Amino acid sequence: MRRLCALALLFAVPPLFAAAPRKTVWRELVTPHFHAYYEANWAPAGLGVELEKIHGRIRMDISMFAPWMSTGTVKIYIHASQASFMAGEFAPPPWSRGLAYSDKKTIVIYDDGVRDRLRSVITHELAHLFFESFFKEADAVPPVWLNEGLAVYMEDRADSDKGPWSAALKGTAPARMKPLKTHCAGGPKEDAPAQQVSDWYLESFALVKFLFTPATRLQFKNLSVAVRNGVPLEQALWNVYRYRSLSAFEEAWRKWLFAPEGNAQSAPGPVPSAPQFSPIQFKPFSTKN
Ligand SMILES: [Zn+2]
Repeated sequence: MRRLCALALLFAVPPLFAAAPRKTVWRELVTPHFHAYYEANWAPAGLGVELEKIHGRIRMDISMFAPWMSTGTVKIYIHASQASFMAGEFAPPPWSRGLAYSDKKTIVIYDDGVRDRLRSVITHELAHLFFESFFKEADAVPPVWLNEGLAVYMEDRADSDKGPWSAALKGTAPARMKPLKTHCAGGPKEDAPAQQVSDWYLESFALVKFLFTPATRLQFKNLSVAVRNGVPLEQALWNVYRYRSLSAFEEAWRKWLFAPEGNAQSAPGPVPSAPQFSPIQFKPFSTKN
């Protein structure tokens, strides 16, 4: 609903933010792939270079979903603080760190002064934007685990493939990963404890990492195409990856994760904690709630 409201605002009132609850003054920075609008007096240092770097990093993985990203531009609104983001035109939910509107090729975020976090959130929201635009072409929305899993996977890869999510997998107890039937049925509840939400993100990340890394990008795309076309996950996994059932897939995934030398095996030393969970948008554009 919140997303729907924000979208309604976008369409209803030219100019874009005229009917905003709190009018923001935006300054503009143009790069080859972005129109960046920032609220602070100065753009975050090196913003243009950083945006193009992020774009270059994710393009190899994501452009198969959104070929338009090579030549098209994305609008990015950067609030000067979390408070201003919360009070701003888009009325995000309190746990949100960013918003993506694939229809408008627009993302909205805030800068809390931590460069790594800004990079992660921009990467995360761009992944949503491009992936959701691919589903939108077929008037569909991606399953939340796939959508969020891909977004955090891109965050992780944006960090030279030694990302915080891969690190957080190390030492994860098998019991923290829920059965796939439960996990893939939907996202965590809005009032779920932070640990549960983090675990849900970590599991989505681990699933996408498994589907993306040992296989090829093309297989991951084919799985997404099948899911977009309404093929049930179990059938899609068979069609594309040749897993005979969801439980066969789950078994292979858990083995990859928890076997000796698996992705969840930790090296001696302290186990890093999961990154703070990232923005959640469980309500697709078309749903009313
Ligand atoms: Zn997200």
